Amino acid sequence: MVHIVGAGPGDPELITLKGHRLLSEADVVIYAGSLINEQILKFCKHEAEIYNSAQMMLEEVLHVITLAERAGKTTVRLHTGDPSIYGAIQEQMDALEARGIEFDITPGVSSFLAAAASLKQEYTLPGVTQTVIITRRGGRTPVPDTETLKKLAQHQTTMCIFLSVNLIAEVKRDLMSAGFKSSTPIAVVYKASWPGEEKILRGRLDNIVEQVREANIDRTALIIIGHCLDAKTGNYQPSKLYSPKFGHMFRQARS
Ligand code: SAH
Repeated sequence: MVHIVGAGPGDPELITLKGHRLLSEADVVIYAGSLINEQILKFCKHEAEIYNSAQMMLEEVLHVITLAERAGKTTVRLHTGDPSIYGAIQEQMDALEARGIEFDITPGVSSFLAAAASLKQEYTLPGVTQTVIITRRGGRTPVPDTETLKKLAQHQTTMCIFLSVNLIAEVKRDLMSAGFKSSTPIAVVYKASWPGEEKILRGRLDNIVEQVREANIDRTALIIIGHCLDAKTGNYQPSKLYSPKFGHMFRQARS
């Protein structure tokens, strides 16, 4: 049996209880070493065989899993954050299915959620935006023409931009040409939730490129943009959820 597990964003305590249990029971662990905080491997059994997939091709990963299956062992395939977000798990799942190997998935805390926590920020503020766009800028992996940053940014929602901090100047250009003003607040969160390693940059579109360069951040970071980051200025409407005038299934309106 293969368990695909979301390891969470970096803080080892941010793996789910279920993910932790599966990791602590696994005979074989294959982890995405380029991004995962290796501290999380302390949850593995002493005798577990541990592989870093950063140095492996898909075929090698499948080979390790196939051998483990033949030996009746349990494998955990550990992905950073949540495996559904840029996890490249589809091709692995399809290959497992083709080989008749059973698998399941345990979700994880994605880094865009850890970044919100680090920023102490709600992404969906009433009167500001009710939408979060998770995307990346096209680079070595292209994005479809219908969803370029320039097109998506026209909605002026909260945007969590993955895998693009190395292209921060291009990101800025695209966002500005889509209509985000140079004064729009933007944040870059590096290694969100990693104990002792996290860095938060807060700025505006017109000064973020310099900040990123000065901080030497070129990977493992998220770019968050949107007017939700202005919230301290009181630009949002309080939620109806807690308003005395607003009744719902669990509480009557008070006049
Ligand atoms: N599945 C992961 C994303 C993998 S893609 C998730 O759900 O978070 C790798 C990209 O995710 C990185 O380039 C970076 O943009 C982002 N990322 C992953 N972990 C991060 C962290 N702790 N802090 C900030 N960004 C992170």
